[in-house]
This record gives sequence, C-alpha cells and structure tokens, in this order.
Amino acid sequence: MAGNQTHRQPRIPTGHDDHGTSDRSPSVVTGPHAGYDRYGHLDHYYYRCERCGLESTDATLVEGCPRCRETEARR
Ligand SMILES: [Zn+2]
Repeated sequence: MAGNQTHRQPRIPTGHDDHGTSDRSPSVVTGPHAGYDRYGHLDHYYYRCERCGLESTDATLVEGCPRCRETEARR
C-alpha cells in the first residue's frame, strides 16, 4: 500500500579538518572573533570555546579550553 519510501539521509560531511592537528582535541575553540564596544567600534578580539561557550580575549584559549579541561579531569 503505502510506498516503501527509503529515507535517504543527505550525506553530512564529518567536519574532517586537515589542519594537521591531533585527531582528538579537548576543545573546539573558534576565533578570533571581532568584539565591539558599545559604540560599535572594533574593540578587541576574542576566542570562544564551542564546547562550553567560554569566551576569552586570551589567545591561549586556542591551545586548550581550561574549563573543558577541568570538566574532563573531573570525570
Ligand atoms: Zn570549553
């Protein structure tokens, strides 16, 4: 009766990055993102951990999110 519809899922690319980083990074930090002051002027750059949402102007965040690291250690 009802057609046997094969649900074809579109192929989602598995975010394979070839930046030469290790396969498993503890956190995914993006940036630098531009940060603006209240007048809309470029004020600073910040980085954000996409995993826990931590934002920091400290560029060392790129090397590893301290919050995520702490969470991992607590497990
Ligand atoms: Zn994090």
